[in-house]
Amino acid sequence: MTIEQVMNNKNFDKELGIIVINNNRPITFTKEDYEVIEGIPRYTDSKKEGRSGSATAIISPNTLAIYTSANIEYPEPINWSKTIQEMKIYNKCHIIAYSLSAKKANPVNLFIGTDYLNKKTMKKIEKEIYDYVKDYKRTFLYKVTLKYKYKEDVVPIGILIEAETIDSSEKIYICRFCYNIQEGTKINYYDGSDIPIEESYGKRITKIKTTRQSNEKNNKYKEYDINVKTKTFHLSSKECSAIKNLEPKYIQETKAYEKEILSKEFKLCKKCIL
Ligand SMILES: [Zn+2]
Repeated sequence: MTIEQVMNNKNFDKELGIIVINNNRPITFTKEDYEVIEGIPRYTDSKKEGRSGSATAIISPNTLAIYTSANIEYPEPINWSKTIQEMKIYNKCHIIAYSLSAKKANPVNLFIGTDYLNKKTMKKIEKEIYDYVKDYKRTFLYKVTLKYKYKEDVVPIGILIEAETIDSSEKIYICRFCYNIQEGTKINYYDGSDIPIEESYGKRITKIKTTRQSNEKNNKYKEYDINVKTKTFHLSSKECSAIKNLEPKYIQETKAYEKEILSKEFKLCKKCIL
């Protein structure tokens, strides 16, 4: 099964658990992943991306946590909201488990995951890696990628866990997808609420429309001088040099939304619109 098939599986809420992807062979490892330094996991910048992303780390006998405090204070993952908090099904999940990398307080290593994902499915794979490392002294390149269904979603639909041994012994590979689900709850991945999926799609569309309309309201009419020969719009207020000596017959005056102009295959003058 491919990751796309798994993510688009409409019955995913019935399949509580883990799905093997690509016969357990990792699919997203890049040159940069292989260059990650042991003890320095690499995380995507959640602030910059607007949501948590992925993390890559080397997991070795050196990096396994040797002591876990029960009182560790976890910072809030990005997009952790009142809605998320009140649902009571979410954990502040580590992308790379503390048990594997012993890095705890970094907010970029946190994401919004269900209790089920955190304590059942993820833990199972993390334990498997942990045991290979602890008992057989294996070293893994380990990567967790959060997978979102839509661009605006703040809660991932699941996570892809990939691992590959990078020591000299026989290779071990892991490539599995874990659904971010909770029994008895239909998660609206847009904001983490539990509005039924069908309704949430409607809500999503409404929300996008509303945003667009309000943007247009803010984006006021502007006065333009149009060069009809070149179909270029110039801002009237700028008295643009490109239009100064143009024969008046080629000049039209108008008022328009910037968006409207662009949708009609006209150009905006780069000189005066900036
Ligand atoms: Zn101009």
